[in-house]
Formats: sequence, C-alpha cells, structure tokens
Amino acid sequence: MANESPKATWQKVLNTLEVDLSPAVFSTFLKTTTIEKSEKGITTVLVKDRYQKENLELRYYAQIKAALDDITGTKNELIFKVASSLKPKTERAGLGPLFREEKELDVETLKRKAKEAGLAPFYTFANFVVGSNNNLAHAVARAIVDKPGALYNPLFIYSGVGLGKTHLIQAIGNEILRKHQNLTVVYCTGESFMNELIESITEGRKKTFLFRRKFRAADVWIIDDVQFIAGRESTQEEFFNTFNALYQDKRQVILASDRPPKEIPHIEERLSSRFAAGMIARMDPPDLEMRVAILRNKRQETGFAVSDEVLETVASLVRSNIRELEGALLQVVSAAATTGKELNKDSVREILETTNGENTALSSPKKILNAICDKYDVRLKDLKSPTRKAAIALPRQICMYLLRQESQLSLEAVGELLGGRDHTTILHGVGKIENLVKKDKKLAQDILNLSTNF
Ligand code: ADP
Ligand code: MG
Repeated sequence: MANESPKATWQKVLNTLEVDLSPAVFSTFLKTTTIEKSEKGITTVLVKDRYQKENLELRYYAQIKAALDDITGTKNELIFKVASSLKPKTERAGLGPLFREEKELDVETLKRKAKEAGLAPFYTFANFVVGSNNNLAHAVARAIVDKPGALYNPLFIYSGVGLGKTHLIQAIGNEILRKHQNLTVVYCTGESFMNELIESITEGRKKTFLFRRKFRAADVWIIDDVQFIAGRESTQEEFFNTFNALYQDKRQVILASDRPPKEIPHIEERLSSRFAAGMIARMDPPDLEMRVAILRNKRQETGFAVSDEVLETVASLVRSNIRELEGALLQVVSAAATTGKELNKDSVREILETTNGENTALSSPKKILNAICDKYDVRLKDLKSPTRKAAIALPRQICMYLLRQESQLSLEAVGELLGGRDHTTILHGVGKIENLVKKDKKLAQDILNLSTNF
C-alpha cells in the first residue's frame, strides 16, 4: 500500500469482494468495515461486533487476504478488531453492580469447568510454594488472576524442566475459573495445538472452523511448552493468527517455555517478538530453604510420617529440580516401607545414592568420574587440570554432561568437582555434548553404556 492511503486500498478490496461474495454476505459482514491502520504488513480492520469479527476471521479470512494481497502486490496479515466503542468482554463481565457478588462454585462444577478448559484441577495457588526462585512469576500470576488481560499481556514464563511452569500457569487458569465465572479459559500445549490443528485440517473445513472457534473463544489462552511449535510452518502460521486475534481483543495470553523467546530455535521472528512484547518471567532452581519448604508442603499434603531431618537431607542431596525432589522423597518413603529401615541422615543418603531405579535422581559423582577415567583412559588429575587437549577435553565434557544428568549436581558443583571451573564453562560443555549426542549415534551409545556403570 505504498502509494495510496490505506483507506483507498481498503475501498478497492471492498469493491473486489462485493463482486466475489453474495450480496447478503457482503452487506452483513463487510460493508460496514473500515480500516484502522496498515503497518509492517499487518492490516487492522475495524468491525462492529464480535459476531462480525468471528465470521470474518473464520470464514472469509482467506478471501479477504487474497483480494488485499492482489491489490497491494504484497503479502498481508489481517487483524479484525471490534471498534473501541465496545469494551472488551472481560470488562463487560457480570450483570452490573447489583449482581457482582458471584457465588462460589462448588467443587464438582469447578472440576468440570477445569476439565473443559484442559486444566488439571489439582494445580492450585494453595499448593504452590513461593520462594526467591519464583516470586516474580508468582506475583505476576496473581496480578493476572485479578485482572486478566489488563496488565501483563502476554505473560511469558520460562525455566528449566521440573521447576513449576506447568503448575503455575495451570493454577492461574484454575483460579480464574473460580474468580471470574463468565470467562472462558483454554489451556493447551504447543504439541496438542499442533495435533488438533492437523487433525482438524485432515477432517475438513467444518473441523477447522470448530478448531478456530474453540481457540478464539478464549478470554484466557494458556499455552504450555510453546517451543514445540518451532520449525513447523503451518502450525506457526495458525498460532500467529490465533495469537493476534486474541491479543488485539485484549484477551489474556500466557505462554510457558523452556527458554526465553529469542532463544527458541527455529521459531519465526514475528512470533518470538510478540512473545517478548509483554512480561517475561524466569523461574530458577530452588535454593536449599525453598527445597525444604516444598518437601514440608508435600509432607503435609501426603501425610508421610517423615522427620524434618529426613526432609532436610533429601533437600540437600537433590538440587536440580522440584520434580526430582518430589520423586526422591517418594523413593525414600517407599524404600523405608519395603525394607523396614529407619529413616535418618545416613539411610536417606544410602537410599538415594545406591538405588538405581528409573526415577533415581542420583548417581554418585565419584562413580561417574571413575567410569570416565576407565573408559577414556585418562587420569582424574587430567580431568581437573586446565589442559584443553582434545583427548582430555572431550571426556571432561562428557563428564560434565553426566554429572548434570545423572547426579543432578548444580553447574557450580560440577565446576568445583572438575578443578574449579566456571559455571559458564560447564554450561557450554554440557550443551556441546547434548548436541553431539543427537547427531553422533556412537557417542550416544557410549554414554549409555557408561551410565550402566554407576
Ligand atoms: P515444569 O512445567 O517447569 O517442568 P512442573 O510444573 O511440572 O514443572 O513441576 C514439577 C513438579 O513440581 C510438579 O509436581 C509440581 O506440582 C511441583 N512444583 C513445582 N513448583 C512448585 C512449587 N513452587 N510449589 C510446590 N510444588 C511445585
Ligand atoms: Mg511443564
């Protein structure tokens, strides 16, 4: 639309569509539209209500886009926006002041609503422990529950695995269902979004319509593990359109991922920049105090009869993440139940260090170091030394990788064990092996074989 005003271009689009579409369709859905602006390939069209908006998005998007592309000679995205004389739905909530006091929903109704939204009702704020690692994310989450769509939009939460992303974003969804009974919450994962999209496309137009209707009806859209859609073109396209439609209408969007927007590989720039446009909150691994608090909470929830000493020992041994922490507590409790052993500092340590079951978080670091020295014929002294010779550097990096994976040591602890290296060096080494393992089958097998030794 370089040479003429957006308004003139839009008039041309309307002229074209008037010929293409039936008179009834044209006058119902298009005649009254006006253009608000056209910037960076995104054209914002004003419509009078949500009904019109939905129909244009779901049924006529392709046709309108084709006409616009044709006239401008460029590729365009379209956004339909309800003209601002109408407030967004979240603010129109309720039936006026007289009826503001909503009754608490009963547990069964809440469970049903959670299920419809795709949420697990057991993720709540009540059982989410707040500490220095997650207090920012938690505060933002709370603010969103009070006023969805108003302040932090979109919210993008990221952290390593098992640190509470899913728990927190589902708690937001559950709490909104409880507090704002008129709002529709839709939770999905990047993966389920893609699968549903593909399924709807294979099943035909009607299903695609239903797919869009489901997501575009959301007042609060929560997407977990959004990194999954990276590298998948048509999924990203649909995601982008859904995101824009909701975002423009001031609906709340909440995203969770394992890394910040700009670091998600193979994600389109237009998506990552939108993800980064609101609030970004990182969650870190829990410190000792927080780990103890989480285990106390778990003890209360489950009624496990374990002493503070036991909780503290588990918390000091399992540092990596909260999922492993909970797993370790369960492991200790079940080992005690089957062997009849009394639980104390030493027995807990023994259980966590010697069990080699599937969900064991811990392999002894010493065993890992020994296994590496054996296999690669290097000395422990060399692993700890500054030398960067390839014959030493690679085993050292494998060692870093295994110490992280198998004993769940912190980056700092791995650094210490390997001669006082900096945590960024460890991060780099671990990343390198992670990449290598994906490509190099032999190395992957070697590492697997190695890990049977500890
Ligand atoms: P992520 O999605 O980041 O991988 P999850 O949300 O699945 O992590 O959390 C892993 C486990 O740890 C879940 O069982 C969750 O309930 C628990 N958890 C995580 N953070 C907390 C917390 N702050 N308080 C209590 N439990 C937590
Ligand atoms: Mg998760």
